[in-house]
Amino acid sequence: MRKSKKPDWQQKIAKERIDILFNLANKEFKKHPERSRRYVELARKIGLRYNVRFTRTLKRKFCKNCNSLLKPGISAKLRLDSKTKVIVIRCLNCNKTYRHPY
Ligand SMILES: [Zn+2]
Repeated sequence: MRKSKKPDWQQKIAKERIDILFNLANKEFKKHPERSRRYVELARKIGLRYNVRFTRTLKRKFCKNCNSLLKPGISAKLRLDSKTKVIVIRCLNCNKTYRHPY
């Protein structure tokens, strides 16, 4: 069954909410990591419900496994593999690795 598309105005509001939630997640990240993860989780749920796709940059900002924000040097380790041309990002919260070609 084809997913029904939500009206544009609803998607617009959803996008704004996602933006707000990511801002909050960023703000709370240092003091309240659990709260920060909760905001990311909420943002993802809104995205799913309203068929709002996360941009490539937004997708790389959090861990899909534990919803933690991926901050290089703080919550994530970044490694460049020049041979295979991939960026390897490891979440320091749950140890999951992500590979992105560059
Ligand atoms: Zn993680």
